[in-house]
Amino acid sequence: MKFNRRLYPDNWSELALAVKQEAKWCCQKCGLKCIAPGEDTSKLSRSERMKRTLQTHHWDRNPSNNCAENLIALCSACHLFYHQGGKSNVSPGQLSLW
Ligand SMILES: [Zn+2]
Ligand SMILES: [Zn+2]
Repeated sequence: MKFNRRLYPDNWSELALAVKQEAKWCCQKCGLKCIAPGEDTSKLSRSERMKRTLQTHHWDRNPSNNCAENLIALCSACHLFYHQGGKSNVSPGQLSLW
């Protein structure tokens, strides 16, 4: 299954950033403090960095529906949880884009 980039709007990175800033760089499910831009991550291990990378999730899993109510900031573990809990067969490697 190939990831379809065209579903994302041109300003997706801005939208995703706004959602993360709104969440103050914390996971909106478990409250984990994630890595904010400019934060020093040199002391973090690779897995720690992965764990603390904030991602933007679409509630309805439709990447073209980018209204604020449809977007939520999640840490990678919670993000994975939501995708595993549903019918979507998205692999973890693709999740950073969602
Ligand atoms: Zn979380
Ligand atoms: Zn997602």
